[in-house]
Amino acid sequence: METLDTAFFVAWFEEAARLVRRDRDRLTALDAAIGDADHGTNLDRGLTEVAKALAEWPPDTPVQVLTSAGATLIRRVGGASGPLYGSVFRQMGKALRAPVTLAGFSAAFEEGVVALERLGKAALGDKTMVDALAPASRALALAVRDGVGVREAFEQAARAAAEGAQATIPMQARKGRASYLGERSIGHEDPGAASAALFMAALATVAA
Ligand code: ADP
Ligand code: MG
Repeated sequence: METLDTAFFVAWFEEAARLVRRDRDRLTALDAAIGDADHGTNLDRGLTEVAKALAEWPPDTPVQVLTSAGATLIRRVGGASGPLYGSVFRQMGKALRAPVTLAGFSAAFEEGVVALERLGKAALGDKTMVDALAPASRALALAVRDGVGVREAFEQAARAAAEGAQATIPMQARKGRASYLGERSIGHEDPGAASAALFMAALATVAA
């Protein structure tokens, strides 16, 4: 049975940081359309701090990676997305059991998404990061149920997240800053859903 070690989790956040840096301007442009034009810079700064913290205090366990990343995102990302992402990773860390199998990852990730939904009070269809993360969590759970390997499972989760992010375009925002726009939020991809898709893409890359 394949297990996901500390190095895998560190590599996940490093790759997420790389993708967010690469797409920083796109994420900020999405937020400019329906928010306050800071999502790309917010998250880039937060993930740069995460990478720095992981390098300065090398974690010994996957739980430490998630706890450190979650706490850093809460502290360093100005804006709603910091505490929301932070709660996903901190709750995931709380739920994770060693050694980390794909099934264990999937169950803990599901708990992280539930914590996010509870904190943000957002449900599927509200045009938030939930619209990318919940389908990813579901795809992962189905992959586990079907006995799919790690690499293919994370690929399916990444695909579900990317499709979920695209699906936010016709939605009207019901949570967060974009909800102030009412019907004018329709026709734009949600920036948080777009960044959530990058987190899942990073997972697929690292698993490959
Ligand atoms: P802010 O809106 O404070 O400027 P960001 O720009 O960093 O924060 O992040 C905006 C993203 O946060 C949105 O695109 C959305 O995906 C997510 N978001 C905002 N409010 C909520 C919420 N209540 N629940 C879930 N996600 C939310
Ligand atoms: Mg913003």
